[in-house]
Amino acid sequence: MAIPGRYFRHNEKHDVKKSSIYVHIPFCDIKCNYCDFYVQINHSKYDSLLTSLIKEIEYFSRLYKDKSTFHTIYFGGGTPSLVEPVYIDKIISTLKSNFIFDENVEITLETNPGTVDAIKLKELRSIGINRLSIGVQSFNDNDLEFLTRNHSSRQAIECVELASKSGYSNINIDLIFSIPSQSFREWKENLQTAIDLPIQHISAYSLTLEPGTSLFYEVKNGFTSLSSIEHDTDSYEYLIDLLTKNNFLQYEVSNFAKPGFVCIHNLNYWYHVNYLGFGPSAHSLWDERRWKNYSNITRYINAVTEKQNGVKSEEFLNPTELYNERIYLGLRSKGIDLALFEKDFNISLLNTEGKLLTELMNNGFAIVEEDFLKLTKKGYLLCDEICEQLMI
Ligand code: SF4
Repeated sequence: MAIPGRYFRHNEKHDVKKSSIYVHIPFCDIKCNYCDFYVQINHSKYDSLLTSLIKEIEYFSRLYKDKSTFHTIYFGGGTPSLVEPVYIDKIISTLKSNFIFDENVEITLETNPGTVDAIKLKELRSIGINRLSIGVQSFNDNDLEFLTRNHSSRQAIECVELASKSGYSNINIDLIFSIPSQSFREWKENLQTAIDLPIQHISAYSLTLEPGTSLFYEVKNGFTSLSSIEHDTDSYEYLIDLLTKNNFLQYEVSNFAKPGFVCIHNLNYWYHVNYLGFGPSAHSLWDERRWKNYSNITRYINAVTEKQNGVKSEEFLNPTELYNERIYLGLRSKGIDLALFEKDFNISLLNTEGKLLTELMNNGFAIVEEDFLKLTKKGYLLCDEICEQLMI
């Protein structure tokens, strides 16, 4: 289907130029068997990465400083908590002197249990980190062993408690379900442990097999197998039910927050607002232009030395891609704003996809609420399949 008319970003509706910044710190102590992020076990380029990040931030500031106010900074990885607080501080102060930030800027740092103590947590808090995302994955030691994590469940609990005592009032934990070592009972225990802790946000993902990982190799060669679809579905449904009953709002397929604690950075991605990414393998999006950096620390550093940025390639999103992204990102999160969709694409989804949408609504997979087309709990289970049917 050809897409006629104009197409705009979600944030333009409100004429608010909100934007986000992502900084990729690739260092890890080990590579977990399921992980397909760009990580570096060798930390020898620790100092030269910082020099390159600063140069790259200054370069993009000359292009984008006056174009937006930035509302979030997200340190992801890798394991950003492995670097010293002074390293993070240098990046934050460079960002703050090169871009304009909202006074309530949300600054998240991804953390792994076992990589922080009370002193480090307090130092990070004092330099402006106001949201911690802790890579717990499971509170069961068998699961952690299966996932080749290098921390114990005890360390995970201690990390969350220590973070709370160190002044963090906005804490996320990441959890993984459908781990082959995990029974349904153990998943329930995991969730109970989580909700008893002083956390405000949970991101929970089904274990997925990413090509190139050692888990992928093990499964393909028959050394292990993934959980059944039924087990996965039961675990996900239980997750939604339990968290909803415990005052966590589901605001995306995999994300749950207590009132007032949705992650603005996540929301910005799903609302398709502009973001700049710094560091190896970081992606950026600005209006219809999307670009990605080298996913190799040496190439990234060399590129920044040569041209002051680590960009490997770029593309311009065409109207069809924008249409599909609006569907996908909307249905994963708060829903599709039908009026805005019609304004931007000159297409009424309720008319053009009337038959399919009626079927989805009659079968309890979707609803229209306050002019937003949203998925229900049942619909979230089939989110990818439903998006596929609506995309062109
Ligand atoms: S700690 Fe996180 S980023 Fe590092 S290898 Fe494990 S899953 Fe990947």
